[in-house]
Amino acid sequence: MKKVLVIGCGGVAGVAIRKCAQNSDVFGEICIASRTVSKCDALKQKLEGKTKSVITTAQVDADNVDQLVALINEVKPDIVLNLALPYQDLTIMEACLKTKVDYVDTANYECEDTNDLEWRAIYEKRCKEKGFTAYFDYSWQWAYRERFEKAGITALLGTGFDPGVTSVFTAYAQKHYFDEIHTIDILDCNGGDHGYPFATNFNPEINLREVSANGSYWENGHWVETKPMEIHRTYNFDGVGEKDMYLLHHEEIESLAQNIPHVKRIRFFMTFGQSYLTHMKCLENVGMLGTEPVEFEGHQIVPIQFLRRLLPDPASLGPRTVGKTNIGCIFTGIKDGKERTLYIYNVCDHQECYREVESQAISYTTGVPAMIGTAMVLQGLWKRPGVFTVEEFDPDPYMDALNKWGLPWQVDENPVLVP
Ligand code: NDP
Repeated sequence: MKKVLVIGCGGVAGVAIRKCAQNSDVFGEICIASRTVSKCDALKQKLEGKTKSVITTAQVDADNVDQLVALINEVKPDIVLNLALPYQDLTIMEACLKTKVDYVDTANYECEDTNDLEWRAIYEKRCKEKGFTAYFDYSWQWAYRERFEKAGITALLGTGFDPGVTSVFTAYAQKHYFDEIHTIDILDCNGGDHGYPFATNFNPEINLREVSANGSYWENGHWVETKPMEIHRTYNFDGVGEKDMYLLHHEEIESLAQNIPHVKRIRFFMTFGQSYLTHMKCLENVGMLGTEPVEFEGHQIVPIQFLRRLLPDPASLGPRTVGKTNIGCIFTGIKDGKERTLYIYNVCDHQECYREVESQAISYTTGVPAMIGTAMVLQGLWKRPGVFTVEEFDPDPYMDALNKWGLPWQVDENPVLVP
């Protein structure tokens, strides 16, 4: 039986930890750590008596490598599951390297202070070289490849739903359905309604930074960048119905472009309602999405962090959200010389998730794959020294695990394509 150290105890971690506790044959011990240990204790209390896994808690500031190293040395986990924020990816990877422990996360590194001069110089160089301006990219974490390989430990990056399951769907399509995949459209539809005029389904700061940024897609070997929300399509989603969706930059495009040999175009679309978009535009226009501190009555305030305080906690949306999500990928390409199309997707019901783990489907569809990816490494099925994204491993055991642990998927061999 293995021991996992989970960093973070927010919406996604709440689901992942509950799923680890359901899978106690693999996760014999779970240590939950974040800055606010009382939240970790509250979750531990809820789970005690309902699982065979032994649960402990600890306090850690994951921005501090020394604190992380001390905690890892004390807890002695077999693996660290990072479900804090993307800001902490590098410090946690650094601590894993120092202690030679495997590492797993769900989102790629993003710098918290985008005005940091050292970071900004590297970022601006990358914008010019690569052609996209998103604040996050894989270069920071891929830079650890050689050191993880030499240390003989695995880093599994991006095992949420997107990135994560969408990349596993791609590996599965490549393995079983195509000789060459030519196009990939990743469609992320949330048909849920929480009844608030405006709220975000996961960490508001990360969510709003992503959605208000320029869009981009991969075409014929390079990035094409668009203005925010410039490309709009309508699609009729199984289980949800017709929704407006918008092209966004998304991290798995970067790794899939490298790992799927014949791919010519990769796009990512997410659905948004008009109320969400109107609120976001207004907040942006008045400066509330700013990441630079402003002085207010003697205090330094970062507007987007203050906004986060005002918005409903995503974890509180669970009881009030009704409807379904539908997330998946549409592929075109060739098999045995003939053209072929394929859609692999999962439909998830917000209320069913709430009944099972007291959370809405967005945290559920991220937390379940976080548990599965961690189990893949712990069980030795996806254990290889180095830094990898999920499409680099055999998708079959992961696809089986999705069916087993609450995210069953469907295959449509004749889907409507996105123009
Ligand atoms: P929340 O804001 O709900 O939770 C974040 C958690 O991180 C909190 O428990 C917080 O606890 C902890 N944390 C933050 N800073 C630190 C720190 N310095 N040290 C220790 N712990 C810290 O976020 P979510 O659960 O919504 O999201 C978690 C991750 O999942 C994010 O990286 C997000 O980008 C990713 N995600 C991935 C998706 C995918 O499909 N791949 C989809 C949705 C989210 P405390 O304040 O007590 O320290």
